[in-house]
Amino acid sequence: MKKGSSSRKRDTNACREIAAGVYTIVAGNGMTRANVYFIRSGKAWVLIDAGLVNCGQLIKNTAEVLFGKTPPAAILITHDHPDHAGSAKELARLWKCTVYLHPDEMPIAVNPSMEVFKKFANPMDKWIILPIMHLMSKKSFEAMNAKNSLKGVAKALEPGAAVPGLPDWQCIPTPGHTPGHIAFFRAKDGVLITGDAVVTADLNSLWGMMSWVFHTNKLKLGGPPRYSSWNWRKAKESAGVLGKLKPSVVGTGHGEPMMGQGVGGKFKAFAERFSGQASQK
Ligand SMILES: [Zn+2]
Repeated sequence: MKKGSSSRKRDTNACREIAAGVYTIVAGNGMTRANVYFIRSGKAWVLIDAGLVNCGQLIKNTAEVLFGKTPPAAILITHDHPDHAGSAKELARLWKCTVYLHPDEMPIAVNPSMEVFKKFANPMDKWIILPIMHLMSKKSFEAMNAKNSLKGVAKALEPGAAVPGLPDWQCIPTPGHTPGHIAFFRAKDGVLITGDAVVTADLNSLWGMMSWVFHTNKLKLGGPPRYSSWNWRKAKESAGVLGKLKPSVVGTGHGEPMMGQGVGGKFKAFAERFSGQASQK
């Protein structure tokens, strides 16, 4: 691996173990690069998030290095955005396994009609995506949906029940960035996979975005990108929920993982600050 800043190192797609049996890679290279997690559980393993649509081969190769030819017990998706669910269908078909999402994420994941898009639209959808959709013919709209839909491979998980494939983890509903966003927590050693509910990159300021695009970003706790968040008030509340867990290791959807001393305190302080703004408004 080449020397360089820690963010550059991660862009080489190198696999890292951030906690016992919890491995991560950065999938994709551009602005939409996102973290993918491979979680060992006994003799089985589970994939959390699946990168962009062109990340299937990278994820498959990494899985083979870690687990040989054993397919995962399940693919879990924190939220149905293209940088997290992009390769889920391809991998589910390859591995013959199910993709699980929160029930509130299912309409957009499997049956994304125009009504559903409108109902769950975030600012970017309202300003850019929906106007483009309105210009599309019915045929191209349907073709696009068929391509992106997880129909046939996705099922809703039961948020309060055991997590498919991960009996010692909990699913934590964290709506806001999307209606059915979820995080995953392993209480015995405090490992938290946040998805985009909390990230370790500043995706909400011009300077932060520039450093993200040019790979000069430093680890900085932040909320989800607001332009692609469905409900900002709920997003703040959800960060507050995660803060109360006081995790010892944090694996986010974007940005560097947080490990080592003082993580719980720093994370909790951020979450309180971020979610506290909600009650002032
Ligand atoms: Zn994301």
